[in-house]
This record gives sequence, structure tokens and C-alpha cells, in this order.
Amino acid sequence: MPQSLPRPHIGVLAIQGDYEAHAIALTEAGATASLVKTPAELASIDALVLPGGESTTMLKFLERNGLFEALEAFASNHPAFGTCAGSILLAREVRNPSQRSLALLDITVERNAYGRQIDSAIITADTTLPGGPLEMVFIRAPRIIAAGPAVEILANRDGFPVLVRQGRLMAATFHPELSVDRRVHQLFVDLVRAHIA
Ligand code: GLN
Repeated sequence: MPQSLPRPHIGVLAIQGDYEAHAIALTEAGATASLVKTPAELASIDALVLPGGESTTMLKFLERNGLFEALEAFASNHPAFGTCAGSILLAREVRNPSQRSLALLDITVERNAYGRQIDSAIITADTTLPGGPLEMVFIRAPRIIAAGPAVEILANRDGFPVLVRQGRLMAATFHPELSVDRRVHQLFVDLVRAHIA
């Protein structure tokens, strides 16, 4: 990466889940990463990653600590990237069971939608990103069962979208932070750079 590219400041929601791996991935992809646990910490960042973990647990914490409304406001005009449980938090509608969400990304997700035997899997699949097939780590992943017209589908698994983008918002139902390939984080860092330029 040429030295002249700006390093955007990207926060990682650090309530629960694998936020440390995201901070490392973002740093490797050319951003400065910091952990976000309070509404005040949103003031100094350009964009936010909502990591994987357990969306119900995260939601309870968000609701108790004034973070739900703060995230809603932040992600309504800043870039945000949700992975796995994070994609559930960003989704317009959540099923199995139904659950409150930030409802910013026009997708419907079904939680824990892969059967027991294949609920966690590592696959390699094509995406619209340059550089060939991408490794994707799925851990009790949700399935995107519907996507609105403004949602761009960047990769599928078994005919269902697994990596999507809607303007400044991105979601992956897998865990790109757990693979060594940095193309997905790079895409988000580039999106953030374009947003703040
Ligand atoms: N199964 C979790 C949920 O529904 C998501 C799993 C993950 O983030 N790896 O919230």
C-alpha cells in the first residue's frame, strides 16, 4: 500500500465476540483501529465494525448502556460493517426468533439457519472481489433470506448471499477476520476512505 493513503480511524464494537481479531485485520488493511464500548467513543471514529459473537447477548448490552440509540444514529450516516452476529444487528428484519435490530441494512436474516451438522464450516467460494476464490469461515451463521433492491450481492453460499453491500453499509455472514486473506477488510477500508474523502 502506498504511504500516501490516509489511515481511517475505524472502531470495533467490543462488547463480546471476536473484536480483537477485527482490530488486527483492520490494521493490516490500512486503518487505525480502536475498541468501542461506550457511546462517547463513537465521536472520534470514521466507521464501525460490528463483530460476530452472540447477537442476543450483544443486544442486551446495547440496550442497557445507551449504545443502541447511539449506534443507530452513528450508522445512519457513517460506514458500518457487520459480520455474523453483527450482520444480524444491522439487518432490517431478524427471524428465528424475531429480535430487535438496528434495521439499517435492507436484508432479512434467519439466525442459526444452517442445520446442526453444517452449522460451522470453512468453504472457499467465488466473490465479485478481484483475486480469485475467498476462504469463508462460518460459525453458527445466519442466512440472508431476502435482500432489497439497493443491496449488492458480492458472494453467495448455496444460492444465498453471504457478503453484501448497500452504500456505506456492508455485511458478511461469515468471519473474514479469522482468515489470513484481507480482501474483505480492504474493501471496507476503501469504502471508508471514499466516504471521508
Ligand atoms: N449464532 C449467532 C447469533 O445468532 C451468530 C454467530 C456468530 O456471530 N458467529 O447471534
